[in-house]
Formats: sequence, C-alpha cells, structure tokens
Amino acid sequence: MAAAWELRDRDVLILDTGLTPADQPEIQGNIFELRRTDPNQAEYILGSEFQSLVNIQSSDLVSVKLKAPLIDFVIRDLPHLAPLETENFVPFISYACGGLANAWGAGAYRYNDCDLAEFPIAADDLWPFYDELTAHIGISGTNDDLVPFFGRITGLQPPLPFNRNCGRFYRCWQKKSKKMMKRGIYVGRTQLTVLTDELDGRPAYTNNNTSFFTTREPSIYTPRITLERLLQRPNIRYLPGWMVDRFNPRQGGVDVEARCLEDGTRRHFRAHHLLLGAGAINTGRIVLQSFNDQNTRLPVLDNPVSFIPFVNLVDIGAATDMSGYEGGQLIVICDGPRFPERIQGSLYSIISPLRSDLFFNFPLSLRGNLALTKNIIPAMTVLQLFYPDSPRAENYMKLANKKKLFIHYAQGRSLGAVESLLIRAFFPLGFATLPGLVQYPKPGNSIHYAGTVPMGRTDLRYHTDRECRLNRNPRVRLIDGSVFPQLPAKNLTFTLMANAMRVARDLD
Ligand SMILES: Cc1cc2nc3c(=O)[nH]c(=O)nc-3n(C[C@H](O)[C@H](O)[C@H](O)COP(=O)(O)OP(=O)(O)OC[C@H]3O[C@@H](n4cnc5c(N)ncnc54)[C@H](O)[C@@H]3O)c2cc1C
Repeated sequence: MAAAWELRDRDVLILDTGLTPADQPEIQGNIFELRRTDPNQAEYILGSEFQSLVNIQSSDLVSVKLKAPLIDFVIRDLPHLAPLETENFVPFISYACGGLANAWGAGAYRYNDCDLAEFPIAADDLWPFYDELTAHIGISGTNDDLVPFFGRITGLQPPLPFNRNCGRFYRCWQKKSKKMMKRGIYVGRTQLTVLTDELDGRPAYTNNNTSFFTTREPSIYTPRITLERLLQRPNIRYLPGWMVDRFNPRQGGVDVEARCLEDGTRRHFRAHHLLLGAGAINTGRIVLQSFNDQNTRLPVLDNPVSFIPFVNLVDIGAATDMSGYEGGQLIVICDGPRFPERIQGSLYSIISPLRSDLFFNFPLSLRGNLALTKNIIPAMTVLQLFYPDSPRAENYMKLANKKKLFIHYAQGRSLGAVESLLIRAFFPLGFATLPGLVQYPKPGNSIHYAGTVPMGRTDLRYHTDRECRLNRNPRVRLIDGSVFPQLPAKNLTFTLMANAMRVARDLD
C-alpha cells in the first residue's frame, strides 16, 4: 500500500488474495463498557466456534492478537492453493486485505545507519520516506533518550498518555536512568501509528481498548486505511480474490499469472513493471515458482523472541486501570559491552486481553490461579524482546514440489542471558518476575520475516540491486521484507514501507 500510495498519480492495478473479516457486527465503543453491558458481546469476544479460547487446547503458544472472531481472518490459511510445510518454524502468513498489519502492534521505528550496516542503502535514502509516511499515517511519540537509536524525528503527534503500569515503570526508570544507561539499558516511549490528534478525518485514540478484538479502530493505522483513500482515485484499481502464482518476462514488461480464489480460473495480467510485495515468505515463493526452481534454498530471517512477564509490586491487588493504550507503550533497548548485539523490546500492560489468555500460564491450582489472575493481571506488564537475525545455511525455504513450500529454521542461539540481566535490573524499579516464567516461543513467532531475496547479495542465485530490481528480471521489483539482507532487532515494518516508497519513486 505504501508503494501504491507513492504511485497514486499513475495507473496502478493491485492484485491481492484480499481476504476480509466474516460478516459480523463491528465493535462500537469501549471494550470494558461493552463487556459489562452488551448482550451480544460473545459474537465478537468469543466467536461462534469459541475461537478466542483456542489457546486452552493448544500446546503451542497462540498469538493473543490473532484469534478473536473479527481478527482471525488475518491469518486465515489457503492450504489448497498455497500448501506449506515447516520444520521448527511457526509461520504466520496473511492472505488478508491489509495483510498482517491489520493486527499489528502499531510500533513504527526508523532504522539508522547501524541497523542498515549490511544493506546497500543508508538511513539518508529512507529518511524522506519516513517523513512522508509520518505525515500520511500519523505517528504519536516523542524524542527522548532513544534519539541515538531512532534519530530526531519531526512531525510526531504528542505521545499517548501512559497507563498505570507503564507510567510507573517509566517514572521509576527515570530516577535511575543514568545508572541504567551506563549498564547499556535504555528506555523510552514507543513511536506508535496511533493518533493523538485527528488526522484526515480519522479521530484521536479514545482508550477504547478494542484492538485485541477488531482491526477497525480508525485511530490505529492499518494499510486498509491507505487502500480506502487510494480507491477514491479512478486510476487505481484493486482486484481482491486473486492469488499470484508467477511472473514471466514479456516484450517491454512483465506478465503476471494469477488464480481466482473463487473458481480457480487462471488469468494473465500485463504490466510495464511488477512491484511484488506478498510478504517476505510468499514473495520468495512466487520468485521460485516463476523460475520453476525446486532446487534453490532461499534464506529466511526471523527475529528470535522472548516474553518476560513483570509484576508491578506496588499495584498488586489494585483494580484494572482501564485508561491508556493497550499496546506497547515503552521501548527497551539493550546496547553496550554487556550485550554483544543490540536487542529491542516493547513493554505492554496486559489490560484488555481475556483473562483466559494468561490463566493457564500461572503455576498454581485452579483456585490459586483464579486468585492470581484477579490480583496480578492488573499489575502485570510483559516485555516482548526481539533479537536480530542474520542469514544462516540451516534457515531456509524451498519448493518441496511444484506447489508446496518448505521452511526449515533452526534456533541457532541460546536465549536467557539477556532476560536474566533485565530481570535483575528491573527489580530495583519495583518490577519483579522469575526466570522460569519467561517464554521462548518457537521460531516464526516474531511475525517479522525477511531476507528471502536480499538486496546486494550478488553471491546468491536470487537477489536484488539497491533499487530492489530482481537480478533475473529487472522489470520485477521486490517491496517487502524479502529484500532485507539482515534483520535488526528493531521492528521492520515502517522500514519496509519507507523502502517500498523509495523503490516506487525510482520507476521510470
Ligand atoms: C500481532 C502482530 C503484531 C505486529 N506488530 C508489529 C509492530 O508493532 N511493528 C512492526 O514493525 N511490525 C509488526 N508486525 C509485523 C507486521 O505486521 C509485518 O511486518 C507486515 O505486515 C509485513 O507487511 P507485508 O506487506 O510485507 O506482508 P503481509 O502483511 O504479510 O501482507 C502480504 C499481502 O500480500 C497478499 N498476498 C500474499 N500472498 C499473495 C499472493 N500469492 N497473491 C496475491 N496476494 C498475496 C496478502 O493478501 C497481503 O495483503 C506485527 C504483526 C502481527 C501479526
């Protein structure tokens, strides 16, 4: 959508599988109020098939954000059309209109030259597009102790007010910040695509706390917001219901072959240029399918991830604070001699998810867990940590046969040392936990995928140049995370959006 936005004055056809949510009433209002008063709340909170309780039966970690009945369309699978087999990798693939970012945490961070060290582009190449996107989608935040990591940003809306737990954490942190920063631990506010001022008819955030149950909170940016604006232009056409399988060269352009989701018919679309952004994994699949290549292994990058639950000791037993934003409000960065690589995390208060999402993680009896749920959850925060990733031979995807994609990922590092350091560092701030409560989900759970057809990696069979032109067909440019040669710990999406705009602007 970012690339289409850049090309909004030209003739653009957007092909998309484009799944949309089930036809159910949208949520209007504040989730806490609705849970007290709406007799129909089961429809969107639990779902007719109890989708929201799926974690109770599953031994795997289930994404809290992707299971509610108005959200599960985001990862609805199309196994008959795009079969996938994995080993030690939990893929979250989206065929939805607006993709995975329908449900994203809305954290939008700028890469700096350090993050881009292995890229053939520099922060200066992306900066104008970050600025344009900031104006277009609206980002709230502030320039604080994290400026060395994100740059000094102009055009931000004021930051969201803190909820109780994150507010207490930040105040305690500020009292000890000098000492902490000397130890290589930095904390600052998130930059969020959540409006605090009205923008282009979209309202400011009103603490509705619905984002765990719907993708339609207008103050939180999703790509569908850009799509709706693009569709007001006669030169932009959007065709949902088409699965792109491959592209082929043709005189003066490119031929794109797609299948209709409804009846399986095949159709060829012709274009001067193809900008391919189907998510890093599906883009890699389409590239391999285009060359009927069942031999080549493409690299796969994914941020290793951990979740550290902390309890705000002062507020154990307090009532749930229903104000504030339910997503990540603070960023934690580990960088310094004690950390061999830069690590980034987001600190969340667990306000609006269902109690059952956490209940079974507590270690006591049913009755004990009930008491813990009631008294601890309102005082809980979770730090989601992301580690960087680099290409390794054992982490790859390939076509297992003409249709089936196979992904193999080996977790090549042992996690836990950084978590222990942070647990010790945060205890004096009044935030406590036990190392045994830290969760280390399987690879794939970061939902940050990249690196399948990287820019500048001329040693690989499939790669792109710095303008993201595919080496084996320069009419095809890749505009998602597939082109990242490395994956920093910093969430990637804002950068893949800025890069998509940069690539689109370069079209002749
Ligand atoms: C719960 C959650 C929280 C997240 N939080 C953050 C965050 O805070 N910050 C951050 O930076 N990132 C976050 N992310 C990750 C972010 O959502 C992804 O990085 C981003 O959506 C990737 O965008 P993309 O367009 O490359 O791919 P996708 O979002 O996967 O979109 C792919 C698009 O291509 C279409 N498509 C796929 N295959 C085909 C095909 N063969 N033919 C036609 N169309 C096709 C799909 O319909 C979809 O529209 C989060 C993700 C989730 C799920």
